[in-house]
Amino acid sequence: MYDYLVVGAGLFGAVFAYEMTKKGRRCLVIDKREHIGGNIYTEEIEGIKVHKYGAHIFHTDNRKIWDYINKFAEFNRYTNCVVARYKDELYNLPFNMNTFNKLWGVITPAEAKKKIEAQRKEAGIITPSNLEEQALSLVGRDIYEKLIKGYTEKQWGKPAKELPAFIIKRLPVRFTYDNNYFNDKFQGIPVGGYTEIVEKMLEGCEVRLSADYFSDRDKYDGMADKVLFTGMIDEYFDFCYGNLEYRTLRFEHEMPDTDNFQGNAVVNYTEYDIPYTRIIEHKHFEFGNQKNTIITKEYPDVWKPGMEPYYPVNNDENNALYNKYLKLAENKKNVIFGGRLGMYRYMDMHNVIEEALICVGKEMEEAL
Ligand code: FAD
Ligand code: UDP
Repeated sequence: MYDYLVVGAGLFGAVFAYEMTKKGRRCLVIDKREHIGGNIYTEEIEGIKVHKYGAHIFHTDNRKIWDYINKFAEFNRYTNCVVARYKDELYNLPFNMNTFNKLWGVITPAEAKKKIEAQRKEAGIITPSNLEEQALSLVGRDIYEKLIKGYTEKQWGKPAKELPAFIIKRLPVRFTYDNNYFNDKFQGIPVGGYTEIVEKMLEGCEVRLSADYFSDRDKYDGMADKVLFTGMIDEYFDFCYGNLEYRTLRFEHEMPDTDNFQGNAVVNYTEYDIPYTRIIEHKHFEFGNQKNTIITKEYPDVWKPGMEPYYPVNNDENNALYNKYLKLAENKKNVIFGGRLGMYRYMDMHNVIEEALICVGKEMEEAL
């Protein structure tokens, strides 16, 4: 009946379905949630676009991807400037001259570099082999203790020594007074929210919601020539080699009795003892003047079956297990695995779009 069954109406599934439908292929998209969009889903409440699954800021260095996403929405000029709160001290993130000035009173880049260099030397790390060593060698002990260790260990539920170094390299370190959280050339928030983008992508194809692939996989497999699966790859193979590790989050949405709760879209809580990692105040993504405000606290937790797997934990052990699943996946000629869960990779939205377009390209090549 269909050329493709697309399991998952998140960004990967939506880009794939959009491109394939444009090329004349019939796609059926299913999602076990009651809405489209996966984790980029936004819902309007009190005139505010609420990012129901955590703050989503679109950013990319790739002109092609920026032009691509701009076909589906107009983007505002929002630049993510995160404030970090450690006890009652506030610091600017990412690590930049404002952070260094507040922490050490240094004024010039040369003074800041000298301070970091001294702490780096003291730590004595030559080749960083984990997140703690990477952080110490990038920014020194003071920043590590106040702004990284507590946040990281509650976010990932492991000592920073047991985490891969690449995670902390996501954050820029710069010697200018620039609080932009990202280095990318292009950045913004879609006017109208992310859900509208995915709605546009899925316009031409059939979508069934509250439809879990695993509730009747034989039926679903029988409906299409090929399957694109964007759920958990280990679940697809019945966890036959054991469970991959994920991190889950609990989102607590509140409407405090004020029109401006924290004066910024994102405030990180970097002490270990505060159980949430950050508070998002959604109206500030769109410079909103609504009379109410909505905030979301993000509580990280160990993933267990039945919970949403928000983050793959890409350490060596899990990556090795994933490679075993990948071997099984390579033998499944009529199934494609895509997205953050299907590829078990910590990807941002721009990476997901890029990967989905590569996947479409491969499909078209094979069809020739
Ligand atoms: P998902 O959005 O997870 O979609 C997969 C879909 O598959 C889901 O809707 C799920 O319900 C469905 N599904 C799974 N199993 C089944 C099944 N058995 N049957 C039917 N349906 C199924 N990226 C950025 O670029 N900028 C940011 O600021 C940013 N912030 C983030 C903050 C948080 C808290 C998180 C968790 C992620 C963030 N990301 C950010 C990453 C971004 O969310 C992902 O890159 C993107 O949403 C991944 O899309 P996807 O389609 O791969 O996965
Ligand atoms: N991080 C930190 N302190 C912060 C913010 C981030 O130590 O205040 C670390 C933490 O380990 C986190 C990583 O940097 O997992 C990447 O941060 P990012 O904001 O990119 O995380 P995401 O938005 O993907 O949750």
